[in-house]
Amino acid sequence: MSQAKASLEHLYKVFTKPEGEDSRLAQIETQLSANLADFLSGHIVSEEIPLEKIEQDFSRAQVPEQPQFVSDHAQHLLDKLVSKSVNTYSPRFIGHMTSALPYFHLSLAKLLVGLNQNLVKIETSKAFTPLERQVLGMMHRQVFANDEAFYQQHLHSATSSLGTFCSGGTLANLNALWVARNRALPPLSGFRGISEDGLFSAMRYHDINQLAVISSARGHYSLAKAMDLLGLGKSQLHKLDCPKQTLDPQEVLHRGQKILEEGGRVMAIVGIAGTTETGHIDPLDELADVASQLNCHFHVDAAWGGATLFSTRHGSLLSGIEKADSVTLDAHKQMYVPMGAGMVLFKDPLAGNAVRHHAQYILRQGSKDLGSTSVEGSRNGMAMMLYASLHILGRQGYELLIDQSLAKAHKFAQLINEHEDFELVTEPVLCLLTYRLCPGHLREKSKKISDTHNQHLDELNRMVQKQQREAGHSFVSRTRLSNETYQQPITVFRVVLANPLTTEQDLQAILKEQAELAARQPLWTQL
Ligand SMILES: *Cc1c(COP(=O)(O)O)cnc(C)c1O
Repeated sequence: MSQAKASLEHLYKVFTKPEGEDSRLAQIETQLSANLADFLSGHIVSEEIPLEKIEQDFSRAQVPEQPQFVSDHAQHLLDKLVSKSVNTYSPRFIGHMTSALPYFHLSLAKLLVGLNQNLVKIETSKAFTPLERQVLGMMHRQVFANDEAFYQQHLHSATSSLGTFCSGGTLANLNALWVARNRALPPLSGFRGISEDGLFSAMRYHDINQLAVISSARGHYSLAKAMDLLGLGKSQLHKLDCPKQTLDPQEVLHRGQKILEEGGRVMAIVGIAGTTETGHIDPLDELADVASQLNCHFHVDAAWGGATLFSTRHGSLLSGIEKADSVTLDAHKQMYVPMGAGMVLFKDPLAGNAVRHHAQYILRQGSKDLGSTSVEGSRNGMAMMLYASLHILGRQGYELLIDQSLAKAHKFAQLINEHEDFELVTEPVLCLLTYRLCPGHLREKSKKISDTHNQHLDELNRMVQKQQREAGHSFVSRTRLSNETYQQPITVFRVVLANPLTTEQDLQAILKEQAELAARQPLWTQL
């Protein structure tokens, strides 16, 4: 390897064009574009390398003094990074919400990076700003179904907005609760609003001792982060137990009334449309009614499940979502857009004004700069990826994707139910289900599995999940769930059937491998 020199000549080359056909980076790019699946399966390790070992490759806390040739560095990345990353494209990688992408995103990513637009202000994004607003409008219409006149009025308005694009569900939830907080504590005589005067004055002027959010125990941890950031405190997030997997609207109402009686106020109710752990959907319609009874904001976290709205058959699972004041959607989950694409939508196009911020050199009064109502500042044009997907796949394409995922989840549930060694723990509502290894003789109708047996089963399922991951042929994730039957939470396998290329044979192979791994554990034979 020859040593590059820090020279202006080297810099010019780096900024202008590749070093020619023989550039290693250009070769990698060609291989990658020719066949992504082959590229990945050829490069992803199948045996588990301990993280500590990988850390050794990334252990120098010093900026390299000398420059490197692009080709040499590309080879370095291939060896140290690419070969040890995770093959999320594998049809047997069914443990998380991250899956394979349509191939065209690879070329679009090049366009996105090449153009390097900054959506914070129109001066650095121009056409990207109207595009992003159109995408928000399309998704808004999918959720709230207002009429054409409504969208013509608000799509490109400088004084209203249909939502905000951001890097993911976490920021979307934060943004929604930020708006809810500012709207819950508006200006009063002598008080300029929470945004200006802060929480301490807000409590005095509004005469309250707490500001609560009610959600379920299955709520995503980003809600707690938002409570922390907004100065409300994680303990003000009331996470109600849900042994039936979804929120009980009556319980939400009772908790809300109790908070009011104690001198507090309910800022928001958060319903989840597709929980991260089990894929369940809260009763959105009834929760919307409870929210109006308690006179609070109703937010729906549909980060993962929102794409179900594309399906004519299954969209009604989310009915009531149109009554939400705000909705979180993640395009990088079931909309198959690369990582870093989320959004929050507001039913009321004026809601976002509760957090509108102005600055002199950008975000001037009356400008259409998207940065004035977002948490983030500089931001890339990820909306283009969703824009392209919505056009290339169309609603009908998305519908097919959703319908086949759901059908596959039901098929997998059936395979589990038919198998002697497994117990289905949560039925798939969307394309997510949980199950565990549990020998048939323990599952006879009449008797309940003892706590001791459950502890052994927990240990067994934990070991099998780990060994399966380490063997590297397939991947399911694992979590702990409380349910109606047992006192203690139980350890379960969690499966998300997002990859359209996953076949029934893949699913059978995964169960077969798990059953074989279990049979090898002394614990299994002792049960
Ligand atoms: C994934 C998810 C989030 C968080 O989204 P990120 O994109 O990871 O920030 C929030 N809520 C739910 C229900 C999710 O599934």
